[in-house]
Amino acid sequence: MKKRMKQLVCSTALLALLTVSPGIGSAASYTVQQNDTLWIIGNKYSTTAGNLKKLNSLTSDSISVGQKLVVPDPPEFKATIVLPNDTMWKIAQRHSVPLNKLLAANPQTNPNNIWTGLDIRIPKKPDQYLNGVFPLAKGSFTPFSNSYADARTWSSEGSVARTHEGVDVLADKGTAVYSAMAGTIVKAGWNKLGGWRVTIQVDDHTEFYYAHLSKYAANIKEGVKVTAGQLIGYVGSSGYGPEGTEGKFVTHLHFGIYKRTPAYHAVDPYLYLKWWAL
Ligand SMILES: [Zn+2]
Repeated sequence: MKKRMKQLVCSTALLALLTVSPGIGSAASYTVQQNDTLWIIGNKYSTTAGNLKKLNSLTSDSISVGQKLVVPDPPEFKATIVLPNDTMWKIAQRHSVPLNKLLAANPQTNPNNIWTGLDIRIPKKPDQYLNGVFPLAKGSFTPFSNSYADARTWSSEGSVARTHEGVDVLADKGTAVYSAMAGTIVKAGWNKLGGWRVTIQVDDHTEFYYAHLSKYAANIKEGVKVTAGQLIGYVGSSGYGPEGTEGKFVTHLHFGIYKRTPAYHAVDPYLYLKWWAL
């Protein structure tokens, strides 16, 4: 029994490795999900359906759930190579990224042993909020890809096609959730879609949205100011129904960014999350 458990854990770990961990300088692997098309996957990796076909030697557009595809390196990095007499510090300076983030983006590279021509990944900087805090502690969540703009169908009026307005990060129920930036809570309480959610206004134009919580931290209510890194609640699976509904999907944090102008609209939070997570 014990042995079987161990095998199960190993194969899960291997699957996670295959799904999310590209080798340095090589292409990553992606497992086809329900409703995926080459076009949707191409969008996630900033490439075209045609390029994906070429990379995988596909003869048609047809793909099936569970199929493994070769994809380019994740969109949160750009590739570069080490120049003569380079150090990681020099590379960080040249690309205007903090050294600690550059090192975190290249975990398989020994910073004291690099050579001319070696592939290095430069983390892409988001437009703003560079000092944000990733909302979950290191090691408390599952590696994530970009689920923004994925197809979703649940609505309080029944099944309606819509696009996903945030990124989902899988974590166990009860995992602490922290505010990514300082701001003011503008909404807290039940929302049919988001369950127990918190919306925090971080500047005149922008709100950060945390959904599907299992419970709130103390004193999380509308009008309260929070600091970056402050505990706001705990991961859960609340939502998709009347108050108290939970368990309709796997426990995760849904994180979204909304702009208030010109009209209230979601923007892709992926690059921000990836930057904060480094
Ligand atoms: Zn979501």
